[in-house]
Amino acid sequence: MNLSRKQILQELEPYGARLVAVSKTQPVERIQSMYDDGQRIFGENRVQELLEKKDQLPSDIEWHLIGHLQRNKVKQIASFIAMIHSMDSIDLAREINRQAVKNQRQIPVLLQFRIALEETKFGITLDSVDHFMEKLFGEKLDHLKICGVMGMASFVENEHQILEEFQSLQDIFESLKTTYFDANQNFKEISMGMSGDYQIAIETGSTLVRIGSLLFGPRT
Ligand SMILES: *Cc1c(COP(=O)(O)O)cnc(C)c1O
Repeated sequence: MNLSRKQILQELEPYGARLVAVSKTQPVERIQSMYDDGQRIFGENRVQELLEKKDQLPSDIEWHLIGHLQRNKVKQIASFIAMIHSMDSIDLAREINRQAVKNQRQIPVLLQFRIALEETKFGITLDSVDHFMEKLFGEKLDHLKICGVMGMASFVENEHQILEEFQSLQDIFESLKTTYFDANQNFKEISMGMSGDYQIAIETGSTLVRIGSLLFGPRT
């Protein structure tokens, strides 16, 4: 199945969610034509691929890094990245902050949580949330602009399970907001929902959906 950008935007509109067009593996021509349609936020999951594409595309694109990020790659994107969705360790937080200082900017980041019941490698685990937050605030990482949370549901058909997983991310968001970010206007994003589950995600409070194959067609 394939939906046009316009159709997806119409579905998101009543919920106020924004679209991250996930352009990984797509050629620059396809990205350019989606840009010409008005899309400005694009998501990539590999640093090398992102850098190659960025050079060939308009400079006002907001590039979001959505995939796992290795510490040694942060410096390559620190000067321009519009948002890093996948901050999931203190070591990575420190490095992003360090590179942000060097570039004299704040880098917008999301805290990635491991909400899926299925085996996944990345994300802060739910039983370590408090420990993580204490460590994060124990250091003065004032060049991180912490904008919210991100998570991925299990890759399953069971809609009830997906709903519960998204609900758990929504719960984490609310509890972090109350406990740590009450006075912080930046903390407002919940990045959840992909091609197969974005409808459940927007009904559960997603503010940023990351959609690739539904928009561009299957990845080759
Ligand atoms: C690839 C990817 C997506 C988009 O997946 P689709 O199923 O093609 O919409 C979203 N988020 C992350 C982290 C991804 O790696």
